[in-house]
Amino acid sequence: MELLNQLKQQLQTLDDQQLIRKRRTVDSPCGPRVRVEGRELLAFCSNDYLGLANHRKIKLALQEGAAIYGVGSGASHLISGHIRAHAMLEERLVQFVGDHLEAPRTISFCTGYMANLAVITGLTAGDKQAEIFSEELNHASLIDGARLSRAKTQVYPHADLPALEALLKASKAATKVVVTDSVFSMDGNLAPLPQLLALCEQHDAWLVVDDAHGFGALGAQGHGVLEHFNLRSPNLVYMGTLGKAAGVGGAFVAAHETVIETLIQKARPYIFTTATPPALAHALLTSLDLLEGDEGIARRASLQALVAQLDEGLRLERWQRLPSKTAIQPILIGDNAETMRAGAALYEQGLWVGAIRPPTVAPGTARLRVTLSAGHTRQEVATLITALNALALERT
Ligand code: PMP
Repeated sequence: MELLNQLKQQLQTLDDQQLIRKRRTVDSPCGPRVRVEGRELLAFCSNDYLGLANHRKIKLALQEGAAIYGVGSGASHLISGHIRAHAMLEERLVQFVGDHLEAPRTISFCTGYMANLAVITGLTAGDKQAEIFSEELNHASLIDGARLSRAKTQVYPHADLPALEALLKASKAATKVVVTDSVFSMDGNLAPLPQLLALCEQHDAWLVVDDAHGFGALGAQGHGVLEHFNLRSPNLVYMGTLGKAAGVGGAFVAAHETVIETLIQKARPYIFTTATPPALAHALLTSLDLLEGDEGIARRASLQALVAQLDEGLRLERWQRLPSKTAIQPILIGDNAETMRAGAALYEQGLWVGAIRPPTVAPGTARLRVTLSAGHTRQEVATLITALNALALERT
């Protein structure tokens, strides 16, 4: 069939460019050590930053949640799927980020991807002239949200405050929405949020902050990037995910209650989908307690110690380390094929590190993306350091 041949050709082109992605099936729970294809691997590629994805207390809470609420929610939130567990989760999340907002309220989502689609389309739905100002390195879900909104979108260069300021000054739009990752997912660095917020306040713009990689991992209490920078403003619209440091799944948006009510009424990715299983929301209550409590504090401290260990230990001759202080530690290689070879060589040695190529990153900036977790031991990180240093030498 000609249609199939077209698809096959397109896949072949991807293959020729070393851009075919392979899924590997994991036969164990998520954690620092996983079983894949009959081998035990040391995994440095998950976003389970605090090692909670297989935590005994959260697993028990999930079972308890299923016992109380059953398995499915049965409907979307606006029909009959908004279960007590979702409401409790949303209230609990207000305690996490409410200090940073005015008249705070939260709304929970099935995934961060959907939360981002909802926020951007929801904030711009009522104004055909709305304009979006999107940071160059934003996550795909923010880019897709802007596309779905059909609002005029301008991309400003990475962390370029003067460029953003010029765009905001030139804009005549009544609704201006600046959108940024807090921790850039492929680079690990932080957006200059205090300065971005000052600009947004000055120009009466919303600042949508995607804290997928900061929620639970940043801030003394794990409240995320707003706690980290001690920010507070009615202009902030905050998105946090619950499947990374929080270890479970889902996401939420926190903002002024009027923004949240707008999302409930207008955001199609919220309205037209089945609510998450309430047992997940119930399990998340335990996860949030852990994040905020002594265990979360201890786990964040271990994670930071491992980041420092990697920082001190790596000697990567011609590969470039990107300046990141977070759990995301990218090693820039550039060439797709060399990045794939490096990833494969590590895998051979039992080390699973993400090899990231375009279109996830810009052409010519393929990289190894090491992610650390509080679940790793110092010995495991030392093994990774030795392997990376040796590999970088081999290629010079
Ligand atoms: N934003 C960023 C910055 C992300 O890295 C991700 C996931 N990789 C998402 C949003 C989407 O979150 P989720 O996985 O919960 O859909």
